[in-house]
Amino acid sequence: MANCIFCQIISGTIPSSKVYEDEKVLAFLDITQTTNGHTLLIPKEHVKNVLDMTETMAQEVFSRLPKVARAVQKATGAKGMNIINNNEEVAGQTVFHAHIHLVPRFDEKDGIDIKYTTHEPDFQSLGKLAEQIAKEVV
Ligand code: 5GP
Ligand code: ZN
Repeated sequence: MANCIFCQIISGTIPSSKVYEDEKVLAFLDITQTTNGHTLLIPKEHVKNVLDMTETMAQEVFSRLPKVARAVQKATGAKGMNIINNNEEVAGQTVFHAHIHLVPRFDEKDGIDIKYTTHEPDFQSLGKLAEQIAKEVV
């Protein structure tokens, strides 16, 4: 896709610091470096995000994730890693070519702070919602 910044990185029009490449995916350092080694893993075929992926594309991308993650961890000496994927603007997606963030973690205060709301679960509502979602899985 001509006006897609990540397609331009794949074609080499825009330079990037590549860490892994094969016929299906590319992994390169995120320009922002939220923490040292922050890497993006992307499919070479343009797709907007995970919500638009076929099973085959998902297999191609996600099957590469563990080995790239292990390499990033080894090279940076990270103790752990947040693996994050934003889909659509409301979820923080700013580049509309699917990508997975690999953010190495060194301690609790090194960059990102993910908070999950904690409140009493309403198991009846959870049950209903799970049923609604289950019906939509095709
Ligand atoms: P999103 O917010 O869509 O989940 O993440 C997009 C990511 O792409 C951001 O973390 C941003 O730093 C990164 N990014 C944007 N433009 C470029 C670029 O030209 N090169 C690289 N390496 N990363 C980029
Ligand atoms: Zn693209």
